[in-house]
Amino acid sequence: MNSLLDITARRAAIEPDAIAFHVVETGEQIDYRKLEQRSACAASLLQDRGIAAGDRVAILCRNRVEFFELLFACAKLGAILVPLNWRMPASELVQLLEDCTPVLMVTGAEDRDTAHAASDPMAMRVLDLDDDYNRLRDAARPHPGRDSWPGQECWYLIYTSGTTGKPKGVIQTYGMALVNSINIGQAIGLRGTDSTLNFLPLFHTAGINLHTLPVLFGGGTIHILPGFEAGPMLELINAGALDVFIGVPAVYRELTLHPDFAKTDLTRLRHWSCGGAPLPDILVETFAARGAIVCNGFGMTETGPTAFLVDEAHALEKIGSVGKTQILVEARIAGPDGAVLAAEETGEIQFHGPGLTPGYWQRPQETAELFTRDGWLKSGDLGRFDADGYCFVAGRIKEMYISGGENVYPAEVENVLADHPAVQEAAVTGVPDEKWGEVGCAHIILRQGAGRDAEALADWCRERLAAYKVPRHVLFAHDLPRTAAGKVQKHLLPQPGDRE
Ligand code: ATP
Repeated sequence: MNSLLDITARRAAIEPDAIAFHVVETGEQIDYRKLEQRSACAASLLQDRGIAAGDRVAILCRNRVEFFELLFACAKLGAILVPLNWRMPASELVQLLEDCTPVLMVTGAEDRDTAHAASDPMAMRVLDLDDDYNRLRDAARPHPGRDSWPGQECWYLIYTSGTTGKPKGVIQTYGMALVNSINIGQAIGLRGTDSTLNFLPLFHTAGINLHTLPVLFGGGTIHILPGFEAGPMLELINAGALDVFIGVPAVYRELTLHPDFAKTDLTRLRHWSCGGAPLPDILVETFAARGAIVCNGFGMTETGPTAFLVDEAHALEKIGSVGKTQILVEARIAGPDGAVLAAEETGEIQFHGPGLTPGYWQRPQETAELFTRDGWLKSGDLGRFDADGYCFVAGRIKEMYISGGENVYPAEVENVLADHPAVQEAAVTGVPDEKWGEVGCAHIILRQGAGRDAEALADWCRERLAAYKVPRHVLFAHDLPRTAAGKVQKHLLPQPGDRE
């Protein structure tokens, strides 16, 4: 008897011949029958390697079907999968491994050396997806699964991306995956036959939950790429093979730069979502001009992840907003003293609901600090609701800076800079200033062929922003330090006066 939450077993029983995964690079198709069989055999393989309920299994690999086989295999055993960031050097990975003490490391060809360098000092065994994994899995007997799956149990751990520089393992439960699937399904009108693209890194919750698990719950198809590539994605759209999509702003920007972008009929893809970082208006407008409405959403690893998503009907009218709360999450805005604020007042965005993490792996103090006394999750982000209940994110609390006694939210300044025709991307930070306490420093990536003209950018801002918001320093860069999800790591940006 399988749990009703055993997605692969349930889908295999309902519609075994439907295609669960399409491997874009090779054309291989894996139906739900095969996915279930592989997952069940992988569970036995893990068990034979000594993995029992509650044990951690680390995995360091690019996006591939085997990752999901192992995710579902862990579910059958009650084991906990820990996807690791392949951008981290072995020395950093060792810290994560010491934190969650896995029994086994799984890896693939691209990350083999790093995986060994990180796991050998701890005498962890390594299972290689590009060596003997397939043979061992196919030789294993299918595991029968288990008949209970408490919603509060940890399924996998996601280490936060480190934009604030302190990775913590965020517990992700089965209940969170289910709630997220309901939220997404409701918000974007997901159909059982829908397909999506899996390419966002799997060590972020988005790689697993947006929109992959919701589509698999519904019996749809996942086109899987090891990482983002605009060309194959545009080909899938042209073939009418992609129904729903979610990317981060950097991915949307990359799409617009591809030579085939102009000749692709974007309306063949039904739903476009974006999240994870501020979405510049210019990208929304570029896609809207081509008939594609990009819906901005807000999510956090701790919120499982999606909490807000703007509806298509209001995405342009409420441009800049992340929308209203999704069906199974509540949100409020709180002032520094914890008082709940009214519409149009800016404060911390806080969440409540069944899809939130219970906390951080073995960190009771950080877990306690994550919640208010009355049990609301503190996002660490600033925002406001307008009178219609649409949320506008103003940036992270720790990114806000105070210039001459006035609060400046970098996201607002970045949005103005991003509208300038010479600017491809802008990141703004507060830096110390003798007179004003802090002033803005804009880090600018220019569009190809544009000249460096700091004064023109300052004039542009002066025409559109209050004087105290206009960045006093402008630094030009070819690229900005980023996390794997494309988010700028502001704590790594240079200060004015550092060598450019
Ligand atoms: P760390 O916790 O280590 O700093 P992180 O905050 O980047 O990492 P994630 O959970 O990946 O961890 O990202 C969540 C954060 O991303 C939110 O708290 C918010 O700051 C930002 N974010 C997400 N969506 C949006 C959006 N649509 N607009 C602006 N910011 C967003």
